[in-house]
Amino acid sequence: MLYDCRRRLLKELGLNLPNDAFELLFVFQQECVTNGENEFNDVYLVTTLAPIPLEAFSLQEYEVSFVKYISVQEYKHLLLNGDPQYVPYDFHGQYGQLFDIITKRYQDNVEEKSLILQNKLNRYASVSLDAELTGLTEEDKEVLLLIIQAARLMDDIFYNQVWYSNESLREWLNQHSQLSEFDMIKWKYYLINKSPWSSLDEDEAFLTTADSAVKLLPEATRKVAGWKGLEYKAAFPIVKPPGASFYPPDMDKMEFELWVKGLSDDEKNDAIGFFSVIRRHSDSYSSNITVSSNPTTSDLYIIPFSQEYFSFLAKAAELLHKAGDLTTSPSLKRLLHSKVDAFLSNNYYDSDIAWMELDSKLDVTIGPYETYEDVLFGYKAAFEAFIGIQDDKATAQLQFFGDHLKDLEQNLPMDEMYKSEDVTFAPIRIIQLVYNSGDVKGPQILAFNLPNDERIVKDRGTSMVMLKNVSEAKFKLILQPIADLCIAKEQQELVDFDSFFTHTICHECCHGIGPHTITLPSGQKSTVRLELQELHTALEEAKADIVGLWALNFLISKNLLPKTLVKSIYVSFLASCFRTVRFGLKESHGKGQALQFNWLLEKGAYVLHPDDTFSVDFDKIEGAVEGLSREILTIQAKGDKDSAQKLLEKYGQMTQPLNNALGKLTNVEVPIDIAPNFPVVTKLQHIQQSNNCCCVS
Ligand SMILES: [Zn+2]
Repeated sequence: MLYDCRRRLLKELGLNLPNDAFELLFVFQQECVTNGENEFNDVYLVTTLAPIPLEAFSLQEYEVSFVKYISVQEYKHLLLNGDPQYVPYDFHGQYGQLFDIITKRYQDNVEEKSLILQNKLNRYASVSLDAELTGLTEEDKEVLLLIIQAARLMDDIFYNQVWYSNESLREWLNQHSQLSEFDMIKWKYYLINKSPWSSLDEDEAFLTTADSAVKLLPEATRKVAGWKGLEYKAAFPIVKPPGASFYPPDMDKMEFELWVKGLSDDEKNDAIGFFSVIRRHSDSYSSNITVSSNPTTSDLYIIPFSQEYFSFLAKAAELLHKAGDLTTSPSLKRLLHSKVDAFLSNNYYDSDIAWMELDSKLDVTIGPYETYEDVLFGYKAAFEAFIGIQDDKATAQLQFFGDHLKDLEQNLPMDEMYKSEDVTFAPIRIIQLVYNSGDVKGPQILAFNLPNDERIVKDRGTSMVMLKNVSEAKFKLILQPIADLCIAKEQQELVDFDSFFTHTICHECCHGIGPHTITLPSGQKSTVRLELQELHTALEEAKADIVGLWALNFLISKNLLPKTLVKSIYVSFLASCFRTVRFGLKESHGKGQALQFNWLLEKGAYVLHPDDTFSVDFDKIEGAVEGLSREILTIQAKGDKDSAQKLLEKYGQMTQPLNNALGKLTNVEVPIDIAPNFPVVTKLQHIQQSNNCCCVS
């Protein structure tokens, strides 16, 4: 449609506009009467700018009867009065919506818009994410700086991947950010979302076309003396393009599928693979549309990432190569060098293996990974980077839980017959995040599991990386204020990060124990996931939480962990429940948390006070935790979907006490997430500069 729109504008009006000058506002379903050769239709070109001189158009006079300027208000008025020249559009019906959309997208109420955007921004608490560099050698620091420079390029690629005009919008918002307070808010909020669509609001556009870039385009129309050419806005779609910039903006699912059908097997794999984009031949001549050709299914073609993003990837490869030469860690050296090859060859297999085997003080994840940005098919990977330093204390804790997993499995509160000899100790790395870029926008993630390449997952599974300082920042800025509101006064001081994070690590380890492969009553082998289907993830998350609590108490009772820990673990867990449930019960973690909260409240392990705060009853909590652990583990061991359904229906609900607590959080405006900045980058640059100075003198 975009292609056709541009082609017709050029053909009929002599107006040549690039893709990013167009914004799809409205599709009007209209009965079209075609009498032989002639189709009649009014074409509206909505601009926010001063009229274009009529002589700039080169009209095809046979087909275009006349061109006139008319303001939206005037046009609306004519329709309302039923002017025969403009009917039969039904202003009070569907067509009238067009005016609402235009008004909303082009209104210029700065004060009101500014306030709305400030409120959206306030949901993020800004925070400096610092990491301890003292454990690093000078050489490590130099390596780190090179890697961070490469990571920055992932941001550039990602902006491009989200939407084809994102780069120019970013530039424009940056340049204008100092003009007014509103421009600064726009810039800040844009940087959090890395696009004009707001992550916390289901990707609703938070800018309007009136807020976006204006460009000058001398070649857009015929030259007119004294007129500089056409200015246009880099318009963006109200609805975030589901295919991001991985596919042509006007391609739909059907066109893609038809095209793929006709491809050879190898081409097909590339077309639906992680590491390529799909483009149109006809778009390649974007500044010079070939008027005669029509887009056909063979109009699409594949470009590998290594080619599409070559300018960025070649630079990143150079930096990583230097870093790889410098580092003395063999596993990091291998990762960096294999990543260089991957960026240039588009083959990421070896670098993914090297990433799985990484064991170094510096932890590096860089490249195309998650496919969430491709909502159309989920095929294409977005570039990201997570650079961190291994956290020694947490790594030791992880080892501790790993060493006791077998013992925990044998003592789980469930029938002996369900217990297994094997436990799975999934590889986990816990780091202090130093820098992230690319595919991380809106809410900050706390952990990730990679790689996504099925060949590797099948043979070797995945590795998890947990970001400890991100967790700590969220704890201080979100969980602590939640605790102040929702936890009874006398227990507030028991809420602390160390206990909270100890439970988080234990949660991850507990995914590895309990039933996974099971034997059904019929004797048939199956898995919990297969049997519980859509209920599995919520129940599995609840299991990891509640069995995690049980496990910590078990280890404390064996004197393997300090006794002082026990109370703060229970209270910190209670506080964290409100944070998770806040994201809604559709999500597995939220549903799983609601299930635990309501169960523990019913059993008297949580106590609701008249001032709507909660506390833990330390006499009852141990039994209640064990009871729920047994309930969930048994359902999983039996693959009993009916009981899972009943349990979730009864307890996985938004109950009145939960609702009251959440209401308090909204009233006091506790932030929903954090917006980090990374001071370590400047710190490292200082170190490098002072080093350079020494060399010079
Ligand atoms: Zn989990």
